[in-house]
Amino acid sequence: MRPWTALVCVALTAPSAAVAELPIFDAHVHYSHDAWDNLPPPDAVAILRQAGLKRALVSSSGDAGTQRLLAEAPELIVPSLRPYRSRGELGSWMRDDSVIGFLEERLKNARYAAIGEFHLYGADADLAVPRRLVALARQYQLVLHAHSDADAVDRLFQQDPQARILWAHSGFERPEKVAELLRRHKNLWADLAFRSEHGSGGKLPPEWRALFTEFPDRFMVGTDTFTPERWFYIVEHAQWSRAWLAELPTALAERIAWRNAEALFSFWKVGSAQ
Ligand SMILES: [Zn+2]
Repeated sequence: MRPWTALVCVALTAPSAAVAELPIFDAHVHYSHDAWDNLPPPDAVAILRQAGLKRALVSSSGDAGTQRLLAEAPELIVPSLRPYRSRGELGSWMRDDSVIGFLEERLKNARYAAIGEFHLYGADADLAVPRRLVALARQYQLVLHAHSDADAVDRLFQQDPQARILWAHSGFERPEKVAELLRRHKNLWADLAFRSEHGSGGKLPPEWRALFTEFPDRFMVGTDTFTPERWFYIVEHAQWSRAWLAELPTALAERIAWRNAEALFSFWKVGSAQ
């Protein structure tokens, strides 16, 4: 089945109008070099609009993809700078000194709202390259989007207690562990990308409801288009998110759907890109 056929099927099974209208800020989108061939920027933006996205936090290995999308739809794209020049660097970047020059050059030449998403675990967070990345985020006042375990998150905050960290996938941790870390760090937010246990079948389990209720200002949704094919899942993911969010009080659902991300990235104004 062609991906576009899948999108049509999704449209036919859309939830009720009120729920369908809930805007979504997708806080976990990648548009890397291997996504362009099948999905040039106008088509990518068409998918974001079809999904009813208010905005999207976008990063790309190589950064050019992010810049191309930003140029195509500046009002829709919140740009983030990955420390990866190409696919395959996610396990080596923290020991690769040349990453520092890449980050410094990009930060001089374009404006961003965040650095990430980067993959970083445990004691690796204290290596020289990640330390420099944290220092650059502080210098440029950028959010860190970290695909990390709790240990690395703690270490990043030790380096910069004022850092603002968006914890990718909520660390793939259980709700109790996520709560523990959110209690410990007031400048920690968490995305729910590429996990489904909080909303499978459109239902919200009690432990997740309790977590969202305790931390109404910290969560946001995201698709995670880590391979080009997953771009065709953005629309379905938005619909799926609206389904489980409908189980929450409207004000809380709106926060998780878009208001929390909008607040975290409120400093990023449309047209602020150079
Ligand atoms: Zn990702």
